[in-house]
Amino acid sequence: MKRVLVLGCNFAGLTVSRYLHKEAKGKIKLTVIDRKNYINFIPNIPIEVFSNNNPADTMEFPFQKHLKSDGTEFIQADVEEIDVKGRRVYYTPNERPGSAREFIEYDYLVIALGARLAYDKIEGFAEFGHTFSDTTYGNKVRQYLYNDYKGGHIAVGSDLFVQGKHPKLPEVPIALAACEGPPVEIGFSLADWLKRHKKGNEKSITLFTPADVIAEDAGETILNKLLPMVSDMGFGYMNNTHGIKRLYKDGIEFKNGKSLEAELKIVFPNWEAHEFIKKLPIVDDQGFIVTDLFMRNPDYPEIFAVGDAASVTVPKLGAIGHLECEIVSKVIGNEVAGKNEEVKPLEPMLICFGDMGNYKGFYMHTNEWWGGDIRILKMGITPYMMKIGFKTMYKTLGGKVPSWGMPFAKLVADHVSI
Ligand SMILES: Cc1cc2nc3c(=O)[nH]c(=O)nc-3n(C[C@H](O)[C@H](O)[C@H](O)COP(=O)(O)OP(=O)(O)OC[C@H]3O[C@@H](n4cnc5c(N)ncnc54)[C@H](O)[C@@H]3O)c2cc1C
Repeated sequence: MKRVLVLGCNFAGLTVSRYLHKEAKGKIKLTVIDRKNYINFIPNIPIEVFSNNNPADTMEFPFQKHLKSDGTEFIQADVEEIDVKGRRVYYTPNERPGSAREFIEYDYLVIALGARLAYDKIEGFAEFGHTFSDTTYGNKVRQYLYNDYKGGHIAVGSDLFVQGKHPKLPEVPIALAACEGPPVEIGFSLADWLKRHKKGNEKSITLFTPADVIAEDAGETILNKLLPMVSDMGFGYMNNTHGIKRLYKDGIEFKNGKSLEAELKIVFPNWEAHEFIKKLPIVDDQGFIVTDLFMRNPDYPEIFAVGDAASVTVPKLGAIGHLECEIVSKVIGNEVAGKNEEVKPLEPMLICFGDMGNYKGFYMHTNEWWGGDIRILKMGITPYMMKIGFKTMYKTLGGKVPSWGMPFAKLVADHVSI
């Protein structure tokens, strides 16, 4: 029996663990380590905030019962070191302070530890910044909106993302922002919130980007529809900011020398690799795990990476991580079970359901940015329903979205237009 160790148990870690169990049932002993014992359902945090719910009450789903039902062992601990030559991972259980450091050995290692969201590198963020990328920050911005917001201007956008390079990486387009679906989505839904609370409208919001265009991974065709629409609606727009220099009480100063006055500054940072991973011989020059398009490290073939931790996951999207989890579980499943099922390499694409407020949403399905020919943009009630539906399905099934789940969602969203 091969020992498979999965590090991290949010989107990518939970999904790959559940799929691994399916593909390699009875042939592996599976252990999962995460520092917390629940899923943080990040994409739906903004919806909860704009409904005045503390996302910590509604968007944290316990996962242990799902792992247990597969026979997967879970260890709640801080992962501290990976010895890639000795095939060992060192960790410290974190339930109570003072626990002793231990190690665990593996035959296969799947790294799903996500990234470090570097708010601490943005001067003034702690005092003047807001964001939506976890439940703590989500609740902080909710409290600000409902208790302290004075109706002033709002800036929403991203800091510069520094994408890793490595000679053994497959070719991936360069992104200057880690994940720009969220700022666009928040722009739309925040405008709706402002109107509902009689505190403003689209003109109260400026979207900004370090890149030439916002959400460049949406591809030219979709952007040619989206950007004129955003401008007709009245949103302000600033591009080529080159990154955030600092936040101050009344605004943001950018690295291109310009600044933007804003009472509320909603920002997304650089996605960085975890410090302890940066020094390993399996990473690119920024510390993200180098893999081929089967998510396997070329120098240590027993090591895989999925989700935001992987270098080829650009932009840092859960939907791309999902495709990677399917691939890794099939590759390992084939090897341990002596199967020969066809596994196709990663073909990255953007699949995104975004909230626009007032029970409407947008749906993007495109691979144009990666050189493909899919370019679908829909807006209406259906994408909103699909966004809520996906959360419910993910929670109920504990990350084990059935094999028809993603194709079915694409089929419905691609062909239904209300
Ligand atoms: C506001 C927002 C909205 C988004 N909306 C969408 C969307 O609509 N669609 C989409 O596809 N993507 C979306 N994304 C991106 C998506 O959330 C991420 O791509 C996804 O969460 C990545 O999953 P992951 O499992 O790779 O990493 P993470 O979700 O970051 O999980 C990493 C896990 O590793 C654990 N961990 C980290 N370090 C350690 C350690 N040292 N020891 C133990 N455990 C550790 C963490 O506790 C965590 O559970 C959004 C992101 C944001 C911020």
